[in-house]
Amino acid sequence: MTTPTTSTHDLVIIGSGPAGYTAAIYAARARLDTVVLEGSLSAGGALMTTTEVENFPGFPEGVLGPDLMARLREQAVKFGATLVEDDAVTAELTGDIKRVSDSDGNTYESKAVILATGSAYRRLGIPDEDRLAGKGVSWCATCDGFFFRGQDIAVVGGGDSALEEAIFLTRFASTVTIVHRRDELRASAIMQERAKNHPQISFAWNSQVTAIHGADTVEGIELTDTVTGEKRDIPLTGLFIAIGQVPRHELFTDEVTLDEAGFVVVDHPGTRTNLPGVFACGDVVDRIYRQAITAAASGCRAALDAQHYLADVAHHEVGSTSTQV
Ligand code: NAP
Repeated sequence: MTTPTTSTHDLVIIGSGPAGYTAAIYAARARLDTVVLEGSLSAGGALMTTTEVENFPGFPEGVLGPDLMARLREQAVKFGATLVEDDAVTAELTGDIKRVSDSDGNTYESKAVILATGSAYRRLGIPDEDRLAGKGVSWCATCDGFFFRGQDIAVVGGGDSALEEAIFLTRFASTVTIVHRRDELRASAIMQERAKNHPQISFAWNSQVTAIHGADTVEGIELTDTVTGEKRDIPLTGLFIAIGQVPRHELFTDEVTLDEAGFVVVDHPGTRTNLPGVFACGDVVDRIYRQAITAAASGCRAALDAQHYLADVAHHEVGSTSTQV
């Protein structure tokens, strides 16, 4: 095992994805010594598990989520950002010098930190979900869809993610039932139209998954009608859960001010948090828009805010040095 190191930088960015990588592109291009802790498993963020992104400006033919992330990453490297394929496991953010460490015990010191930790899949919160995770229960159609060739499966959720996953899963599964707790979808009109017109997709309206059956693998689900309370079982072998995301704030919950839903509070349209020198962007901040393009834009703003902050700090340091002389 190599000995852990401590290194000093201008800026540490925690998290990748469109927000983190865009912040890295701007900061590195502004000649800030920039380190990005990309995450060991989550490098690239939520778009790594997305298929075609059709609405990212500049790609009229669409672009695959992982390809878009690879290009942003490449651009950050081109301008000199250092990318670390590891998780940030501790963060001391309150002092003038911030300290972030990775899972190998390496410490990265800087005067500014950008939080771009994104969000994690929301869970249904029923015991069977954990018990059968990876055994028919999945949160990622692009990762696991292949295993459900010729089978009957369901997707839970009524937003764009659920419909996108359902449509993608028809490539493998024979039938896909979309289970939604209301009788009206939240998804955009274009996605609704595609899903509703798809011959392999059907809907279970006003339905909540209240149990997942199967000893070792998924064999069916119990649905409870959200209006009548009536229960019914449907046999299937796969359940994909696409009910939104929750902000990932575990690393700095005690230090950074969060709102009641766990999103980092920033001085919109700025990206400053309650801590001087700490900025936040992307899905960990955004409870409304949550698009690749809005995450990228907020990453840009965070880098500019960090740049101004570091220039101010440097200015004051020079000022105090010259008064002493
Ligand atoms: P979302 O829009 O927040 O939708 C979450 C869905 O899950 C809602 O239909 C919600 O029901 C349901 N839900 C939430 N908690 C639930 C629970 N405990 N049990 C059962 N159902 C639950 O999340 P999303 O679909 O992940 O989309 C997030 C953002 O990304 C959106 O802005 C979306 O437009 C965007 N997005 C865009 C694309 C695209 O443009 N191609 C693709 C994916 C995502 P209710 O409707 O009843 O609240």
